[in-house]
Amino acid sequence: MKNIPDVLTPEEMVSQPVDRDVIAYTLHGNCYLNITSRCTLRCAFCPKFNKSWEVQGYLLKLHQEPSADEVMHAIGDPARYREIVFCGLGEPTLRLPVLLEVAASLKRAGARVRLNTDGLANLREERDVTPELGRVIDAISISLNAQNETVYDRHCRPPQPSAYSELLEFVLRARDQIADVTLTAIDGLDGVDINACEDLAKRFNVKFRRRVMDQVG
Ligand code: SF4
Repeated sequence: MKNIPDVLTPEEMVSQPVDRDVIAYTLHGNCYLNITSRCTLRCAFCPKFNKSWEVQGYLLKLHQEPSADEVMHAIGDPARYREIVFCGLGEPTLRLPVLLEVAASLKRAGARVRLNTDGLANLREERDVTPELGRVIDAISISLNAQNETVYDRHCRPPQPSAYSELLEFVLRARDQIADVTLTAIDGLDGVDINACEDLAKRFNVKFRRRVMDQVG
């Protein structure tokens, strides 16, 4: 196993050698898991493309994708955290087997587990993965990002034109499997009507959270 750092604070990140990937990082009393740098989308607003993979003091570019054992090692004691969140910069469901294995271990340890996702796993996998997620995930935050397909496609640059409708379908499936579903959108992005996004969440009968650019949550 390669040398995996324990969870690092932003202050510790300053002196972190560049060859030590940040697999787990702490914010707001939560532990965030960075298990891939790959994405289905190519969002124009993403720090990956605009800056330096840095989010709130953490450099999140991975040089190698961690195994489930490496992720668990990086977390340490799950009881230290309010919530453990599969996050990014990258789409966690691109590593579905590792995600499910780690989440199952965390559930056995009594942790609360959340997934932040683009909501395109079913489109990519060509099957409904929400029942598998529902067995090991307590909460899911899905990046709605826009109130319609035109604005979504402009900002998120999906690989297929049907992505937005597939995302909405994923929200419905997730709602049937996971008790706590939240849609998110970034306030202030050109053309994004944050109130219309919130209305959409209400119509789906799920929660909504407006996000601030470059802030993990
Ligand atoms: S899904 Fe997230 S990490 Fe991936 S490109 Fe979009 S903003 Fe960046």
